[in-house]
Amino acid sequence: MQVRCQICGKVTEVAVWTKEYQRLKDSPDHPYICRACQQKIQAEAKKDQKL
Ligand SMILES: [Zn+2]
Repeated sequence: MQVRCQICGKVTEVAVWTKEYQRLKDSPDHPYICRACQQKIQAEAKKDQKL
């Protein structure tokens, strides 16, 4: 299954046995965000907490 990252637009292949696939299947309306962007968001969130 191919999904497109809502932030960078990168298309990623998600294997059916992964947790990400299960999450997408359970909530199809939930926007997909690739791992790189997730890490970026988490880093930004940590930065905001410190300020
Ligand atoms: Zn991305």
